[in-house]
Amino acid sequence: MKDRIEALLAKTGFSSNGIFVMDGSSRSGHGNAYFTGLGKNKRIVFYDTLLEKLSVDEVEAVLAHELGHFKHGHIKQRFIEGALISLAGLALLGCLVQLPEFYVGLGMTTQSPAIALLLFMTAVPTLFFWLSPLMAIKSRTHEFEADTFAAQHASAASLVSALLGMYRDNASTLTPHPLYSAYHDSHPPAKIRIDHLKSLQS
Ligand SMILES: [Zn+2]
Repeated sequence: MKDRIEALLAKTGFSSNGIFVMDGSSRSGHGNAYFTGLGKNKRIVFYDTLLEKLSVDEVEAVLAHELGHFKHGHIKQRFIEGALISLAGLALLGCLVQLPEFYVGLGMTTQSPAIALLLFMTAVPTLFFWLSPLMAIKSRTHEFEADTFAAQHASAASLVSALLGMYRDNASTLTPHPLYSAYHDSHPPAKIRIDHLKSLQS
């Protein structure tokens, strides 16, 4: 498996500082894989549960998908967006902390920075809930791009079977309601993703 992974890394021009296996099985049965580190210190980490459950072809396809995210700059983009959103959030908090209406409107009689922070963390996310489909559209586009990359550098069929296995293990539906999915899922519904991968394969 290590040879196949290293061959894929060489083929896609990805330099990493090592491939690691994480003990995920002592916490849960969920399988996962991720990148960590910056610059030349990038590391690839696989959960032992993922390696146990997936075939070599499937692991290669999952890694190719993750490499697709990296090659398309999704990780950097998300990092910058996250920093900007945090900055905007803190600016908003800076305004709200001075507004008596903010406390009264959310049922508080005393005003203090601690209460403002607590209200901000618990109540404000619900006010922005309606925006979540907008965020999801972006991350779904990224998933399709990463899947396309995976189909080019590994097997689309293996990615489909790996996905089906993960959906089965997580007991999640393959066909969620489109409206529910638009609000709650960062990834496209399984059926749409699988149809897309199959179209790339043919
Ligand atoms: Zn992805």
